[in-house]
Amino acid sequence: MDPVTDSLNEVHRRLRGLRDGKVADYIPQLATADPDDFGIALVSMAGHTYRAGRTDRPFSIQSVSKPFVYALALGDLGPEEVLRRVDVEPSGNPFNAISLEPGTGRPANPMINAGAIATTAMVRADGPAERFRRILDCLSAFAGRVLDVDEEVYASEAATGDRNRALAYLMHSAGSLGADPEETADTYFRQCSVRVTAVDLAVMAATLANGGRNPVTGVQVVPEPHVVRTLSVMATCGMYDGAGAWLLNVGLPAKSGVSGGLIAASPARFGVAVHSPPLDGAGNPVRAVAALGMMSERFGLHIMHGPGLRATTVTGARRLEHGDRTIGVVTAQGILEFTEFEALVQAVREVTPPVPGWMILDLTAVTGVLPGPAAGLASVLGDLAARGHRTAVAAQETFVEATEGHPRTWEVFRTREEAVAWCRNG
Ligand code: GLN
Repeated sequence: MDPVTDSLNEVHRRLRGLRDGKVADYIPQLATADPDDFGIALVSMAGHTYRAGRTDRPFSIQSVSKPFVYALALGDLGPEEVLRRVDVEPSGNPFNAISLEPGTGRPANPMINAGAIATTAMVRADGPAERFRRILDCLSAFAGRVLDVDEEVYASEAATGDRNRALAYLMHSAGSLGADPEETADTYFRQCSVRVTAVDLAVMAATLANGGRNPVTGVQVVPEPHVVRTLSVMATCGMYDGAGAWLLNVGLPAKSGVSGGLIAASPARFGVAVHSPPLDGAGNPVRAVAALGMMSERFGLHIMHGPGLRATTVTGARRLEHGDRTIGVVTAQGILEFTEFEALVQAVREVTPPVPGWMILDLTAVTGVLPGPAAGLASVLGDLAARGHRTAVAAQETFVEATEGHPRTWEVFRTREEAVAWCRNG
């Protein structure tokens, strides 16, 4: 097993019984969703995918499309022109509110419907067919695979979308919509009906976390400065009128949608996506909000949390031969947060002896271990022991304290020399 997956499974196990919230039914096709669907996917900057629960169930992207189309529009029109047409202020209103500036008709922000419809109209194209094709290509590049439209959701949404059409007409009459209102609403309905899985959304979020470069395909989808703008708007407006509490409790740029999808990006660390259809009063998926709260705490993800000095974590990974004994030794330094921890686990895998042998983790220069990585390390070490390896950790008190409460399958030493001596003679 893998410790990151273990940690996602743990969050999933603790929340799957949560029965609060209600599946959206104002778009008839959405009401057919299974309220028990619940999947969590995470994609790291190294391009690794981790998953828990149902992460391959397709659903329509809905409002989670909004930040990506905003990033596309920034590239087409440039940041100043986009800002002139759509503001970046949290509206404090529900997602489908008429949040338009008096006089100009400029929508409050691109994460609510009015602003998103105006953003869709900004995508440069010769007509609606090309406009939608460019949107679909963009979403596909973020996901790293060719996406398609759920035609049933699209038909259902188009048949009941009068409120969104009304928003488009209102903006058109105020002069703030740059294209035909009927066509723009239709393109917006198609955009919302693009079919994704939780894994797709996690790759898309990871691409934002990675400065616009898809960490799985290596493709630079949008320029980094546009990603910074997009993530900023997500941080203040991505969770509708739940945005304040979200920033306080989770502290990550995020975007939710009515089909129960939610993405969050932890810059330079990972992208995460949760799918769970029941929504709270603000229109955010209940289990997803709770899951991100737990993960943020475990891995210290809050953007206002000071991560300490960044330096290479794994400073050595090799195998020593001593007589007929093979000893794998991994040396690390600094604070173990998510990214550091992922690198450490990878290094442990590389030097673990092929047959039951000896492993040393030299963590004497590790100065801090967050709860998530501590639990993960305990499980990696437990796994090594279960496979017949004898393991030693050389570490300061901080590691011993962080792993308290986890079954201890390893010997603890104060210095690396003592650990090596134990492996040679023990
Ligand atoms: N297509 C949906 C709508 O416009 C998207 C809203 C959402 O996901 N919050 O009503």
